[in-house]
Amino acid sequence: MLRSGLRAALLHASRRGSVRYAVEHAPVSRGVVKRFVAGDVVGDAVRVSSELVASGLAVSLDHLGEDTTEPEHAEAAAAAYVTLLGLLKEAGLSTRVEVSVKLSAVGLALDRSLATDLVRRICVAAADAATTVTLDMEDHTTTDATLEAVRELRTDFPWVGAVVQAYLRRTEADCRDLVVAGSRVRLCKGAYDEPDSVAFTRSNDVDDSYKRCIAVLMAGEGYPMIATHDPAMIKEAERLIAECKRTPDSYEFQMLYGVRPEEQLRLSNQGSTVRVYVPYGSDWYGYLMRRLAERPANMRFFLRSLATRK
Ligand SMILES: Cc1cc2nc3c(=O)[nH]c(=O)nc-3n(C[C@H](O)[C@H](O)[C@H](O)COP(=O)(O)OP(=O)(O)OC[C@H]3O[C@@H](n4cnc5c(N)ncnc54)[C@H](O)[C@@H]3O)c2cc1C
Repeated sequence: MLRSGLRAALLHASRRGSVRYAVEHAPVSRGVVKRFVAGDVVGDAVRVSSELVASGLAVSLDHLGEDTTEPEHAEAAAAAYVTLLGLLKEAGLSTRVEVSVKLSAVGLALDRSLATDLVRRICVAAADAATTVTLDMEDHTTTDATLEAVRELRTDFPWVGAVVQAYLRRTEADCRDLVVAGSRVRLCKGAYDEPDSVAFTRSNDVDDSYKRCIAVLMAGEGYPMIATHDPAMIKEAERLIAECKRTPDSYEFQMLYGVRPEEQLRLSNQGSTVRVYVPYGSDWYGYLMRRLAERPANMRFFLRSLATRK
């Protein structure tokens, strides 16, 4: 992880309209986006999924978009997922490809029950395609609402996945609540700019929390989804998989599209399920900025390219 101060500054700057305009219109953005995003349209999502599945990997597709403030945009986001799930079913991909949804993309800021109802609509389409839905986790002001939506949706769709972020001080306790039988839980470090009052801000503390959370998830009865590219976290997960005698069908690793593809194949070839998180769509700004803030090498390349182009 980047030094937390620099990372926070980048995430903060990314919220300024002028920065957004510059990034969205810089020719170099296209190249960087291409590395992390499948493409602009649903056909790109299906094509990339098909390629990843053919190489032995599983997929979670994210229709890009967040912080929706218009009801019709929330409806359109849900409709996009329903269309996608129909296409995945038709292509015979839905046994290996699920979807990830952000509550803010389907109108959390407008009305939590509207957002939950729209996710319910997506869940109906996912059930018809025999696949699953995971609710991404956003900044800490949405944690309670998102976990509550997961609880509500699980009454009818027990396979709905939850996400927890190891950088939040509350997360070890959330993991203990979530480790019931069948509960799909994705553990990530967390990608937002959070205050010290709610989050660990030193990377060593985040890593220690991540390790404690893996231990809780692996020892519990749920289905842990270990989402990280960090070799130390992967090693710790492998140690606990062996110690807890987890069978390969009782957990999975997850990584982002475009990040450590050779490690994705190594873990998959060793017999673990590896799911690649693949975003698609034209609303890529927020996603790209979080990826750049995580990785100094990407940011340096990006800034150099911006500075040398007209
Ligand atoms: C499948 C998936 C789903 C996610 N969902 C969410 C979510 O819902 N909410 C949320 O807040 N966040 C989410 N994230 C993002 C996550 O919170 C982190 O911001 C992101 O994964 C980076 O953390 P890391 O664990 O990879 O470790 P970092 O601390 O970023 O990196 C640790 C080490 O990993 C290795 N590494 C990392 N990136 C690279 C790279 N590009 N190339 C080579 N080595 C690399 C390096 O050795 C590095 O030192 C998700 C991540 C994944 C993988």
